[in-house]
Amino acid sequence: MASFSGRHSRHLLGLQGMTPDQIEPLLDLAESYALLNRSRKVPRDVLRGRTLINLFFEDSTRTRTSFELAGKRLGADVINMSVAQSSVNKGETLLDTAATLNAMQADLLVVRHSQSGAPALLAQKVEACVVNAGDGTHEHPTQALLDALTIRRHCGRFAGLTVAICGDVAHSRVARSDIHLLTTMGCKVRVVGPPTLVPNGFKSLGVEVFHTMEEGLRGADVVMMLRLQRERMSSGQIPSAREYFRFYGLDQRRLALANKDALVMHPGPMNRGVEIDSLVADSDQSVIQEQVEMGVAVRMAVLDRLTRGRHSA
Ligand code: ASP
Repeated sequence: MASFSGRHSRHLLGLQGMTPDQIEPLLDLAESYALLNRSRKVPRDVLRGRTLINLFFEDSTRTRTSFELAGKRLGADVINMSVAQSSVNKGETLLDTAATLNAMQADLLVVRHSQSGAPALLAQKVEACVVNAGDGTHEHPTQALLDALTIRRHCGRFAGLTVAICGDVAHSRVARSDIHLLTTMGCKVRVVGPPTLVPNGFKSLGVEVFHTMEEGLRGADVVMMLRLQRERMSSGQIPSAREYFRFYGLDQRRLALANKDALVMHPGPMNRGVEIDSLVADSDQSVIQEQVEMGVAVRMAVLDRLTRGRHSA
């Protein structure tokens, strides 16, 4: 059944409100795709005859490429609409774009947009299944699913794990999706960063708020670093990159405050020397490349689940 969240069962727009019963089977399916990917034995007919359109209004490297790979590995026809060259730049509205895409009879639309809520708006106007590939500061559900899968592979559980999400939490859709998912699965989630980037209001999402790395990292099983999203910042939210690294960068000395063998994660793209030191990013504790690998598997699982049992367009 393609049931992710009751109201939008055809779509994956966010993880808020999803239950463990919906999340676990999706992670199991993604795990099986991860194994098939490694053995190069992916069934090519799962999405045969389906059309997937990648519609990215914001830059992306990993997410767009991995949706493309995921679709192609399962046999879909994949089209990357380059928004820079499309009519959107000639003033076409999002809803006109939706009507055009409807006429093209796509089965799956993967949408990234700088405005929170844009994929949800599109979802109301198109016949296709819509997957949110990151909207403004709202959600990035497939990133959180791949983070969860990576954590589960290493720790074997979620309940009782302490996960510290550090850095520019305020502007991060990744942080919001991770918070919804990991708290639902029973993790203790902390958000760590300067008050300008980690407002106390986050407590209402069921997380603990820390303003020093020294307090926030102590006893953590997973340390997830976030990129400074300068494109979404107003001036004055951070001093200089150098100052930021001095107080909030993850280096070996700070990582030693977390539990022994704590996982180091980052959704990418990384700013080395700003939020994370290269020695940590490339260390044995880092699972950053595995996150990328799991990204393909999770996106295969999502595309499979959303289209299963649906007639193709
Ligand atoms: N790639 C992630 C996103 O699109 C994280 C980032 O850009 O910092 O939200």
